[in-house]
Amino acid sequence: MAPQPFTIAIDGPAAAGKGTLSRAVAEHFGFAHLDTGLLYRAVGAKVLLGMEPQTAAETLSPSDLENDGLRSPEVAQSASRIAVIPSVRAALLDFQRSFARRAGGAVLDGRDIGTVICPQAEAKLFVTASAEVRAMRRYKELSAHGATDSYEKVLADVKERDARDRDRSTAPLKPADDAVVIDTSDMSIDAAVAAAIEVVKARRSG
Ligand code: C5P
Repeated sequence: MAPQPFTIAIDGPAAAGKGTLSRAVAEHFGFAHLDTGLLYRAVGAKVLLGMEPQTAAETLSPSDLENDGLRSPEVAQSASRIAVIPSVRAALLDFQRSFARRAGGAVLDGRDIGTVICPQAEAKLFVTASAEVRAMRRYKELSAHGATDSYEKVLADVKERDARDRDRSTAPLKPADDAVVIDTSDMSIDAAVAAAIEVVKARRSG
């Protein structure tokens, strides 16, 4: 018998630790993982090169996701600007939904997975932390990769992206009613991973 689908939705604001947590949870359960932010970043990168947003979303191909430049702050801002456009979000919907229902289980992380993409997900987490903690983590990460942006600039970027993601009318960033919220402000990554695994285990046996 083919393994059943099981979807784990992990949402939250920029730099809350969703990526690390999602990879660890996926590895623990042997599930596939999709970083949905990468889809929006890839569209944002094409738009920075002059492409029209909807066309960029409709013509997205797997090779567009293999680009180290997608992690830059400029691409992140462009991603959050094109992410407010309903036709862009619609173009990315089917791919995310079919990934979520693949046999053997899937973890998707993003902003609207538990609310819009997979409202029926078997387990939903909302991972957050204060803007200052998230900015400090992102600042250290960027500095380690040689970036020269100040902490203040990174904090301003995080706040700007939070506001745009929360205030948009289509698929705004917010916890699903049935999501378990994990605030990682004062938590080690190991503790956050352990908490997330417990939530999923409870849903699997429930
Ligand atoms: O998660 P990440 O920081 O890579 O996402 C980049 C941007 O893509 C976010 O600021 C958000 O505007 C957008 N996004 C989204 N919905 C998702 C994932 C990302 O709107 N599911």
